[in-house]
Amino acid sequence: MQFHHHGYVSSDPRVEPAAGVGVNRPDELPDEIDVLIVGTGPAGIVTAAQLSQFPNVTTRIVERRPGRLAIGQADGIQARSVETFQAFGFAERIIAEAYRITEMAFWKPDPNDSSKIVRAARTADDPTGISEFPHLIVNQARVLDYFAEFMANSPTRMRPDYGYVFRGLEIGDGEYPVTVTLEHTAGPNEGATRTVRAKYVVGADGAHSRVRDSIGCTPYGDKANHAWGVMDVLANTDFPDIRTKCAIQSGSGGSILLIPREGGYLFRMYVDLGVVPENDNGSIRKTSIDDIIKQANEILHPYTLDVKNVAWHSVYEVGHRVTDRFDDVPTDEIGSRTPRVFITGDACHTHSAKAGQGMNVSMQDGFNIGWKLGHVLEGRAPESLLATYSAERQVIAQNLIDFDREWSTMMAKRPEEFDSPSELEDFYVKTAEFPAGFMTQYQPSMIIGAANHQNLATGFPVGKRFKSAPAVRVCDANPVQLGHHHRADGRWRVYVFAPDANAAVNNAAIDASTLDDFASWLTTSPESPVVRHTPEGADVDSIIDVKVIYQHDHTRVDLGTVPAIFLPKVGPFALTDHEKVYATDPEVDIFAERGIDRRGAVVVVRPDQYVADVLPLSATAELSAFFAQNLLPQNASARV
Ligand code: FAD
Repeated sequence: MQFHHHGYVSSDPRVEPAAGVGVNRPDELPDEIDVLIVGTGPAGIVTAAQLSQFPNVTTRIVERRPGRLAIGQADGIQARSVETFQAFGFAERIIAEAYRITEMAFWKPDPNDSSKIVRAARTADDPTGISEFPHLIVNQARVLDYFAEFMANSPTRMRPDYGYVFRGLEIGDGEYPVTVTLEHTAGPNEGATRTVRAKYVVGADGAHSRVRDSIGCTPYGDKANHAWGVMDVLANTDFPDIRTKCAIQSGSGGSILLIPREGGYLFRMYVDLGVVPENDNGSIRKTSIDDIIKQANEILHPYTLDVKNVAWHSVYEVGHRVTDRFDDVPTDEIGSRTPRVFITGDACHTHSAKAGQGMNVSMQDGFNIGWKLGHVLEGRAPESLLATYSAERQVIAQNLIDFDREWSTMMAKRPEEFDSPSELEDFYVKTAEFPAGFMTQYQPSMIIGAANHQNLATGFPVGKRFKSAPAVRVCDANPVQLGHHHRADGRWRVYVFAPDANAAVNNAAIDASTLDDFASWLTTSPESPVVRHTPEGADVDSIIDVKVIYQHDHTRVDLGTVPAIFLPKVGPFALTDHEKVYATDPEVDIFAERGIDRRGAVVVVRPDQYVADVLPLSATAELSAFFAQNLLPQNASARV
């Protein structure tokens, strides 16, 4: 963590100095707002948290509940989400309080007596080491708390505005074209309506989204919903795997997904209630907790479950659905106008709880739209950037629906319907990268390059998230994870993997000046993205954060000869930032680990951690052109 560069900090360094709209932030909802977010679930709160880092943007997040979510809803946190928490600064704390999944057990009917269940298999949860981050279970409420804390500590001092329900919106003209009608749900004004005007609205208002309806988006997919009785319980049982994630199938066809919960005692059971008949008229939702417990006991036979306390229960009923667009621009008008209203999370995609995806995919929606709105509203990027949200996330949602349909269909199969006895666990292992959140690969666009030079860094696939690897910080010889320095601060990253002057290429040694030439171009050329896109007076790394990674041991890096762009002067005292210069960890060579060409490579990473392109150090024109399409020129001159 870096601080003190704005002056000595004696209290919690996580609390950033208030700035911009965070200075004298009004308690009351203003009449005019840059971004109005509806709903404080995972999708909305991440959007808000990201925007809280843009001090000149007025963002407000309204919620119909009178206060924070206390209990219930989702609890599965995939490794990609923990990686995201790292960017928001709370991964370590949430890991400490969460349950960590390391294994999954599969229970099936005993072949000798199908009235009993037996353990058929165990699989490692992350057999291939997809991430250095764990797969966690922790309640949605705690995740929301951490993001809310991040917002409150940010320069904008953002807090949710509880007690407002969204009633409708109209899109007109002018600087604040979206007029939103809200109604107070609590307090002295309960029942009264008021309007606010916004430049942009983000509908993060869940599966029954009114924002979605107001922009004419329709969810498509299965008509029939699938229902689960969900219970978070404290209980005694002789079932031996009660502290292990389990898929349990009984001889009768009933099944349970068992999720141990944080704290060592609580656990969640999803008891499959099957597909909801079309003429059900809501009767499945009336399934009582006693019935859910009774069914759980039948499925667990010969083991028993003695429930002492029910912390939360619900009948969670959901279909596989996705909307055809995630903003207010109809398909035939894409490119002709700027989207003004976006929908995120369950508002645009719903799926079963079985793959534990709901909260995770929703958070990535929020991360995706958050920085884009911040960039456009701060005048960093053209408005056309906003169209990439729907284009990118709609595809991801459809992939998720397809995966989840396959997984939940498989989990609902009766034992005799499987092609092989290990089909379920084989599928779980084979597809592990998807539910962990790492299969997302964005296609070429204004923010994803053409990957013409992918061979220079094969371990950083263009379009996929930047997969961290160990490195050594040169200034203090600390072993670190390179990717963990990527904070959710809205900045682009450029990682310069330095060429090895001794590496022979076509029988010719690399010119030792390649790195110096590149650094010098980045520092002074009018074509350099750093020069062109950094506003006058701002820190040189405020828009694009440039780091260098040398191929050799840190003892061989002389900080006195490292180009100045990698040791920039920042803050009001123009202090040298020493934390942008890295060397190879002798035990894990990042160049070997990530397939980086010994001639060096430039890896460009988006504010939401996705690799935007891989280029040779000589491709200055390509680098310049890439940024020119997604960042606006500023009144800049060389400033290192
Ligand atoms: P949500 O988390 O639903 O958040 C939407 C927010 O918007 C809520 O805070 C809501 O109060 C607010 N809101 C809604 N309408 C308005 C309005 N008109 N005006 C203002 N505010 C509004 N997923 C699982 O994986 N496992 C589960 O067991 C599970 N159980 C669930 C149980 C319930 C009762 C619900 C509602 C969801 C459950 N989910 C579960 C789904 C999971 O919680 C979601 O996938 C995830 O929370 C999606 O995040 P989101 O931000 O899109 O929506």
